[in-house]
Amino acid sequence: TEEIPRKPDWLRVRMPASPEIARIKATLREHKLASVCEEANCPNLGECFSNGTATFMIMGEICTRRCPFCDVAHGRPNPLSPDEPKELAIAIRDMKLKYVVITSVDRDDLRDGGAQHFVDCIRETRALSPTIEIETLVPDFRGRMEAALDILEIAPPDVFNHNLESIPRLYRQVRPGSDYQWSLDLLKKFKERCPDVPTKSGLMVGMGETFEEIVEVLKDLRAHHVDMLTIGQYLQPSKHHFPMARFVPPEEFARYEEIAKELGFKHAACGPLVRSSYHADKQAHGEHVS
Ligand code: SF4
Ligand code: SF4
Repeated sequence: TEEIPRKPDWLRVRMPASPEIARIKATLREHKLASVCEEANCPNLGECFSNGTATFMIMGEICTRRCPFCDVAHGRPNPLSPDEPKELAIAIRDMKLKYVVITSVDRDDLRDGGAQHFVDCIRETRALSPTIEIETLVPDFRGRMEAALDILEIAPPDVFNHNLESIPRLYRQVRPGSDYQWSLDLLKKFKERCPDVPTKSGLMVGMGETFEEIVEVLKDLRAHHVDMLTIGQYLQPSKHHFPMARFVPPEEFARYEEIAKELGFKHAACGPLVRSSYHADKQAHGEHVS
């Protein structure tokens, strides 16, 4: 059987144990919430939690899509929990978070794709934590874009994030059920409706794409008025997942970041360990994170 290649040094991090992290984990259990940080075993967990940042997954843990790079369970999702927006808001207040990323699985089973649930979560969270900054990392609302945008613009987040994940040539393999142009259009149309809200997108590299193909995607993002960018290394969750093609060296990430700045992104975070939500607070404030 093929093994997953050993990580190079630049991808190995020590996970520090701290009382802060333990406290946050206990609060999550208490409110029956899922953090992507824990589920995905994110290497940045210690740093993010200590800085008051966390990423929550709403609308359950079962996705209606099957992206072969993704470790989320697929199948028939559970009905939405009407208590979730309130529970989320209480947990965020109790955890004293300053910046949260709210994301979800794809809910192709819901008429609005879950847009109203996002809005409910934003409203409840702001009600209990008035100074909080909220970034939403949304699914593509495929087949219901206008309906979803009509709802989302009622309570916009501080940052609107939707990840392209990969280059168009690999879409059929990497994001079956999704469409490259559709995702670009979602970002553009949200910007048209909420011009003051920064838009953001992210890519994984190391899946078989070329340098030039990544640069083309960056140009496409700018052509759709996307303000912020993240690029990180794809790490294969298991040998049954989409095969990783290579470890992209740190110098190449640095090059993407330079090109992104030249293309006019307001912020770009590119590096092996960068995740869509990594240093999201600093990205939102235009601080340099690399
Ligand atoms: Fe959580 Fe994102 Fe930070 Fe990872 S990078 S710990 S997923 S907030
Ligand atoms: Fe994973 Fe998102 Fe694809 Fe669902 S749509 S399988 S959560 S990457």
